[in-house]
Amino acid sequence: MSVFRFDPVELPPEGEALRAEVRAFIADELAAGRWTPNSDFGSHRAADFSRRIAGRGWIGMTWPKKYGGADRSFLERYVVTEEFLAAGAPVGCHWIADRQSGPLLLRFGTEAQREAFLPAITRGEVFFSIGMSEPDSGSDLASIRTRARPVCGGYEVTGTKVWTSYAHESHYAITLVRTGDTAEVDGKIDRHRGLSQLILDLKAPGVSVRPILNLAGEHDFNELVLDRVFVPSERLVGGEGDGWGQVTSELAFERSGPERFLSSHQVLRQFVRRAGEDPDPRAADALGRMAAQLWTLRQMSLSVAGMLQAGEMPNLEAAIVKDLGGAFERDVPERVRSVAPRRRRADPDPFETALAESVLHAPSWTLRGGTREILRGIIARGLGLR
Ligand SMILES: Cc1cc2nc3c(=O)[nH]c(=O)nc-3n(C[C@H](O)[C@H](O)[C@H](O)COP(=O)(O)OP(=O)(O)OC[C@H]3O[C@@H](n4cnc5c(N)ncnc54)[C@H](O)[C@@H]3O)c2cc1C
Repeated sequence: MSVFRFDPVELPPEGEALRAEVRAFIADELAAGRWTPNSDFGSHRAADFSRRIAGRGWIGMTWPKKYGGADRSFLERYVVTEEFLAAGAPVGCHWIADRQSGPLLLRFGTEAQREAFLPAITRGEVFFSIGMSEPDSGSDLASIRTRARPVCGGYEVTGTKVWTSYAHESHYAITLVRTGDTAEVDGKIDRHRGLSQLILDLKAPGVSVRPILNLAGEHDFNELVLDRVFVPSERLVGGEGDGWGQVTSELAFERSGPERFLSSHQVLRQFVRRAGEDPDPRAADALGRMAAQLWTLRQMSLSVAGMLQAGEMPNLEAAIVKDLGGAFERDVPERVRSVAPRRRRADPDPFETALAESVLHAPSWTLRGGTREILRGIIARGLGLR
């Protein structure tokens, strides 16, 4: 018997009505010249765009109405996110809060935290970052060294985070810190003990946000230096020492969405246009293969959305979607580059622009959110192979 499953999921009829609504909105945005389609959702953001879609009820869609949400299903959210990603919309500002931080607070936060943060997120007014990675701790997250020392009324946090996306534009970062020591359990050191998550105010005294430029020379991520930053105890998420369990519970949300295989979608779209009605055999072959892979990945990803909707935590299936999806989206620019008919032009056209942007961004797609080797370790464990 298979230990993982990808049951087929049909989108509900209301999903298709919603899709038409989102497409009409996107067409209006493009007609008004508000943004140009981008080739990596992680690098393009616009606070005014986030506020406009918030006005439509498209941030925090699945959250309860009492927190500003729309009480809609994961599958409806799926429709909205895949339409924005396929269109190359500038979703970066609200992305992390909508996908991860909000659901985390809904699940583990206190009522006061939910009331304080969720409505503001759904209005597109408050943006979040994730402070997990450190200079010597990426894949091996349990080795983080940022310390939160108990002080009167809260914690004093000292340490360095790295690759913190959008920290220069976000308001808060859900930050993984060490509040306690590792423990010895049955003769083995348990490094997952003593970790906690704090809601860190990125404008608090002692926080320095230093830019790190990506391969394309853009400022998306940062180094975050925390020098005795005071975080009040009411900003602890969940219980002290529960950080590891909480972090791993975010993974199915983080790893299975359409952003895990649509990063290079613009280049694929533009390639279809460039190849034309009667593509040469190499282009037709490449297009057929990529379309088949894209469709399969979408079905798998939708299946995970169906499981999340049913209240399950399909971490293994999500790791499979991210591993295969990351490999696919990273390959697309290379495959397209090797078969696309090239033309010399004085000005870059949408195909060349999308290709150039994808080539520079693709190396990061199999790193962010967990590297392929780490995902494969999770998959192997899930299959009982290690
Ligand atoms: C675009 C982008 C945005 C990011 N945004 C954020 C963010 O907002 N917040 C945040 O906290 N982090 C962020 N990250 C960091 C990301 O999570 C880490 O880069 C990732 O987890 C890998 O960690 P590392 O870079 O330290 O590499 P390492 O963990 O040092 O890995 C180096 C190499 O060794 C391999 N490796 C490591 N351990 C093993 C093992 N046990 N078995 C086999 N192979 C192994 C890895 O697969 C990799 O190939 C971002 C990264 C990128 C590229």
